[in-house]
Amino acid sequence: MKWWLRSRDGVDDSQDRDIARSCTGKDGYRSEAEARAHAAMNGMSGVLFTYRCTYCDDWHLTRRKT
Ligand SMILES: [Zn+2]
Repeated sequence: MKWWLRSRDGVDDSQDRDIARSCTGKDGYRSEAEARAHAAMNGMSGVLFTYRCTYCDDWHLTRRKT
């Protein structure tokens, strides 16, 4: 999920903040199943929702349903 660090040309500040909030501040998973497995492992199944990240193309977990 670090590829974008090497290709940031043209990324403006507002997008930077959005990335920080929705991507780099979170763990990334290679599949929805893996993300769900981590949520379940932490007892957060039903609390955390998975979503496909538009920045790193990994899956992240969020408390808010998207
Ligand atoms: Zn991401």
